[in-house]
Amino acid sequence: MLRTVSCSTSLTSSSPFFPRSYSSTGALRGPGRNLRRISSPSSTGRRGLRVLSDAGRSLNRKLSRLSVRAVATQPAPSYPDVGKDEAEKLGFEKVSEEFISECKSKATLFKHKKTGCEVMSVSNEDENKVFGIVLRTPPKDSTGIPHILEHSVLCGSRKYPLKEPFVELLKGSLHTFLNAFTYPDRTCYPVASTNTKDFYNLVDVYLDAVFFPKCVDDVHTFQQEGWHYELNDPSEDISYKGVVFNEMKGVYSQPDNILGRIAQQANIPMLKFIPITLVINEDFHRKYYHPSNARIWFYGDDDPVQRLRILSEYLDMFEASPSRDGSKIVPQKLFSEPIRIVEKYPAGRDGDLKKKNMVYINWLLSEKPLDLETQLALGFLDHLMLGTPASPLRKLLLESGLGEALVSSGMSDELLQPQFSVGMKGVSEDNVQKVEELIMSTLKKLAEEGFDSDAVEASMNTIEFSLRENNTGSFPRGLSLMLQSIAKWIYDMDPFEPLKYTEPLKALKARIAEEGSKAVFSPLIEQFILNNSHRVTIEMQPDPEKASQEEAEEKSILEKVKAGMTEEDLAELARATEELRLKQETPDPPEALRCVPSLNLSDIPKEPTYVPTEVGDINGVKVLKHDLFTNDIVYAEVVFDMSSLKHELLPLVPLFCQSLVEMGTKDLTFVQLNQLIGRKTGGISVYPLTSSVSGKDEPCSKIIVRGKSMAGRAEDLFNLMNCLLQEVQFTDQQRFKQFQSSFLISMQNRLRGSGHGVAAARMDAMLNVAGWMSEQMGGLSYLEFLRTLEKKVNEDWEGISSSLEEIRRSLLARNGCIVNMTADGKSLTNIEKSVEKFLNLLPETPSGGLVTWDGRLPLRNEAIVIPTQVNYVGKAGNIYSTGYELDGSAYVISKHISTTWLWDRVRVSGGAYGGFCDFDSHSGVFSFLSYRDPNLLKTLDIYDGTGDFLRGLDVDQETLTKAIIGTIGDVDSYQLPDAKGYSSLMRHLLGVTDEERQRRREEILTTSLKDFKDFAEAIDVVRDKGVAVAVASAEDIDVANNARSNFFEVKKAL
Ligand SMILES: [Zn+2]
Repeated sequence: MLRTVSCSTSLTSSSPFFPRSYSSTGALRGPGRNLRRISSPSSTGRRGLRVLSDAGRSLNRKLSRLSVRAVATQPAPSYPDVGKDEAEKLGFEKVSEEFISECKSKATLFKHKKTGCEVMSVSNEDENKVFGIVLRTPPKDSTGIPHILEHSVLCGSRKYPLKEPFVELLKGSLHTFLNAFTYPDRTCYPVASTNTKDFYNLVDVYLDAVFFPKCVDDVHTFQQEGWHYELNDPSEDISYKGVVFNEMKGVYSQPDNILGRIAQQANIPMLKFIPITLVINEDFHRKYYHPSNARIWFYGDDDPVQRLRILSEYLDMFEASPSRDGSKIVPQKLFSEPIRIVEKYPAGRDGDLKKKNMVYINWLLSEKPLDLETQLALGFLDHLMLGTPASPLRKLLLESGLGEALVSSGMSDELLQPQFSVGMKGVSEDNVQKVEELIMSTLKKLAEEGFDSDAVEASMNTIEFSLRENNTGSFPRGLSLMLQSIAKWIYDMDPFEPLKYTEPLKALKARIAEEGSKAVFSPLIEQFILNNSHRVTIEMQPDPEKASQEEAEEKSILEKVKAGMTEEDLAELARATEELRLKQETPDPPEALRCVPSLNLSDIPKEPTYVPTEVGDINGVKVLKHDLFTNDIVYAEVVFDMSSLKHELLPLVPLFCQSLVEMGTKDLTFVQLNQLIGRKTGGISVYPLTSSVSGKDEPCSKIIVRGKSMAGRAEDLFNLMNCLLQEVQFTDQQRFKQFQSSFLISMQNRLRGSGHGVAAARMDAMLNVAGWMSEQMGGLSYLEFLRTLEKKVNEDWEGISSSLEEIRRSLLARNGCIVNMTADGKSLTNIEKSVEKFLNLLPETPSGGLVTWDGRLPLRNEAIVIPTQVNYVGKAGNIYSTGYELDGSAYVISKHISTTWLWDRVRVSGGAYGGFCDFDSHSGVFSFLSYRDPNLLKTLDIYDGTGDFLRGLDVDQETLTKAIIGTIGDVDSYQLPDAKGYSSLMRHLLGVTDEERQRRREEILTTSLKDFKDFAEAIDVVRDKGVAVAVASAEDIDVANNARSNFFEVKKAL
């Protein structure tokens, strides 16, 4: 659900369908595609359980937030303390202090005496330090002001009076996290870094931005970030421009997001969260961005006294304000009657429109905040009902055939009052009511009959495992804890409580053991769901006219605006447009840039981080071992080669992987198998991976089986992997149909929500073989394949089933297999036997001979039509084809292009939410991409100007240093132990040696202006010989093809 709609300022980047590129895992790779995702709390807290770590993360968030008061049982280690007098001297009063054993931290709550600002200071051994400032920002109207302000305050401040200090930090710091989010009732500004000096630099820029932004006196900033009329010439039409405007247009081009918004507003009408209408209100800042209304979080291994020193400098400048009382969130009264809402959403014309309804039931669970034990039990119930494919509510809905997929369902407790939602999309008109009935009858049945004891055990193990693992992926742990704590703290409740789960979990386990799970869960279903009259049912109907209607409406408003203007007004607007554009495109003066604090090159380690790797051999199979502290968990990957797979089977591979983990064996139903995995392990997943390999024609094409378990259960883990790989039977036609339809739906969503990823995949498929393979398994070609597959499943299931068997036979073999393991040394030794047994059970060689992968899509400019209000525009070419040889400077240069040229032109003056470039050093493909972009040809022209931009570039040493440091920050991105082991495997597969990493690092560190100029020649190949692919609206494509005679081949997709 769209609890957190905005995530400000992130350079958006695509999430390639399969990890074709590896920057997020830290292999040698430049800045780009998946470095900075849109990272919003909701996206990490959502239910998308295909990737292991996501499952863990969402659970973790959920559960750690749901906990009751507990007494610390462990003595606190001696973390540096802030004495009472010391705190007093700095203007703070110590409110309370606790050692929190769950996160091995000492947490102290301070209050700034003068303003009442509260500060949580968390000390521990985590080098990934986190700072966050959170303001309560209840929306009083529907203007989207909190969101526009969230963007605007990062556009220059008192001490940092440049256009966007935020972007300077993106360019030139070692941040491990840098972003901002707007929730329906609060705004968060978090930063993180492992380098202390860098960390304090980030903190200072953020504090100054929040408390002293320039935007309050500068209407240009609101116009740029929010919205404004644009008129280039009085003879042309007026249009809307603005970053948030296009960001939100993109968000609400996705039906799921529209549904989420309607649900949110219907459930809690007082928390309006409407896409921006057009009002600007500077007063909002004065009122809510005040220390009295702020909560500040510090976390990590830095000096807690220094934290207070930094804060007092800012906070002492303010007097107390009543804003804290004025921002109190009032609970929504529960409805006495259920309500029903019917709305239309913009749909494409493909497929059967009758089958595109959505239905969604939501409950607001309680008027008062729940006690933490109840919340914990509800979180558990949520996992039991919906958490895995075997969970009864999820399973029954999907098996009913009434709809194609679930919409975002489950408990949500980020706001004051918890909610529960469940629903389906892809529902035919006649079935809407049946879905509602099935949901209600299933809930009733679960309340009456309770849950299977294996299911309860599996949920319990999964929950305990994820709490112990605390795997937040690339999201800093300290930030995850902050978001948990703030979910109570923001409502004036105890900020410590959500961090302590041990005791309440113990109590819940004891209750289940004594009274049975039914006695615990059935009353919850009855009280909070079945007998709760605050139920909002939403039905959404597809409307193929709606997108063009909305566009026409916008056009007519703008025409009226224009008609109401005199000639002088129009001339003035054109002048103002030009003035804004000039301002946006004029670089900051060097003295302004200099004031943003930055590190020196001497602060940067000269060597890359090495992952301990021992390469061994078991039975002729290569085994990589990484001896790292993992809190007694074993992470394992088994890699199989795809080089004996027949070409035509490629698009079936994702479905093959899904079938392995969700189909069942001769002896076990898929539910039993799934519960067994839940009870014994931390999860197993299977997915394909393809990439070009530098200097080789043959791509790397693998299937990866990834799993984790407690060290003591490693044998079970490998037994279960073996069971999935060798014993699962491809006989369940109904389940396969479900996979097909849910994959089809998620591909359609990708096209709407991550069209830049689809465009990138398409261009890659034209430019290299690995890209072609990847596109067959996750791009537009795959979408087309899934559409034809439905018929085939009905008519020739036997044929599909035997194709799946054939894929298995062509993959499974000891030959070409690689095993990768990450754990502490002792565990690594202990699990060898299990690995050996697993390997011995594999066939020696794959069936079928070696195949040669050589597929490509024809080179051509393509426009992919979807119903959308904003476009995704890409252009790419292979720079190695010019004879360019890889040099580490390429990473610095492409990052610089993204954060300056593309940021300024595509985002700031173009009005797109994002514009960036990506260089795949393995293939040589350099691509430009835009995201939620109101333009099309104009963006392509900007891309084509990149070579000239580089040739005309004049950077001083400081700018260059910043660019270098920022690049090192990307290359050295912070990783938890499992990610370190995984990165090392990726480097091994792609032939990237530690020597090469060292050499590239030296090249990065010595990048010169000459490198930039030289790179211009290489990058011209994209302009001259590159291919362009846009995912765009029919209207914009028509306009483009008229303006530039049939530039694009048009392909209809949705
Ligand atoms: Zn935003």
